Amino acid sequence: MNGHRAMIPERNGKQLTPKDFIVEPITLKKGLVGAKPEKVCRWILDLLNVAEGDEVVDLYPGTGIMGRVAQEVTALPCYVCGENDKQTCSCDGLAY
Ligand SMILES: [Zn+2]
Repeated sequence: MNGHRAMIPERNGKQLTPKDFIVEPITLKKGLVGAKPEKVCRWILDLLNVAEGDEVVDLYPGTGIMGRVAQEVTALPCYVCGENDKQTCSCDGLAY
């Protein structure tokens, strides 16, 4: 596993554990059979307990959506300029 501790849910609190099912409309005409909607990608990453700073390698990139969503989910915010992803921010993460 990736070393992240599972969060202990609060009694009557917000649900923290990922759902073990998902209801999403099937994707049609995305040019590739098996194309996953973004929500499904996020759900899969959630099940894997992927967090900021993790590296996700999509072995079957297909339309590339999983890679894009994983990039968003794992992006570390830049503390210098405040952008969401220090890899792509405009200040180039000068403090790092
Ligand atoms: Zn920055």
